[in-house]
Amino acid sequence: MRILIVEDEVRLAATLAALLRRHGYTADICHNGVDGLDSAASGIYDLLVLDAMLPGMDGFSLLRHLRDGGSALPVLMLTARSDVSDRVRGLDCGADYYLTKPFEPTELLACIRSLLRRGGDHRSDDGLAFGDLRLEQGTFLLTCGERSVRLSRREYDLMELLMRSGKIIVTKEQLLLKVWGYDSEAEDNNVEVYVSFLRRKLSHLHSQVHIKTIRLVGYCLEVAE
Ligand code: CA
Repeated sequence: MRILIVEDEVRLAATLAALLRRHGYTADICHNGVDGLDSAASGIYDLLVLDAMLPGMDGFSLLRHLRDGGSALPVLMLTARSDVSDRVRGLDCGADYYLTKPFEPTELLACIRSLLRRGGDHRSDDGLAFGDLRLEQGTFLLTCGERSVRLSRREYDLMELLMRSGKIIVTKEQLLLKVWGYDSEAEDNNVEVYVSFLRRKLSHLHSQVHIKTIRLVGYCLEVAE
């Protein structure tokens, strides 16, 4: 799951990103509203954590532009003020939830889980399952029966996307965008290399699940009979 943080307080943004990464999410940061809107509208994010007061374009305007453009991206708004009018304004602009700073990390994580569930992510705290595989969010452990292997960050992101899509084909382009991000220099070749790492790990796990290549398109998972 890829989360965008638009927050101009550099230290707070870094702290939030570190917290999210520790909990298995991929997190990118923008420090101003204009770049924030650009990234939020890119379609590669699963959730937006949006500060209300931003240089360039404030969070309310950003959100209005985003919604006007037809985006249904879940948005968690952050504000330094507990002002009711601010809260109402945020919700009117299309925020899904509102948190007042300072907040507890556990509260933020609970909001994020709840918003992602609404968006169709039914992952519980104990991980994501497909076939005989289980992928654990906090520890990056991929488990099959008694065996387990620890995945690297990229392997985890790739495996998560494949497991969430299951038998539906994920294109190489989607994998590049979701796993490497859209500013990245990564190429198709990187995807192939990481898929081969994952295949090696799946075979080590003796899993019935295989990553199937759909030539010139992408990949999907299949379960051997
Ligand atoms: Ca701010």
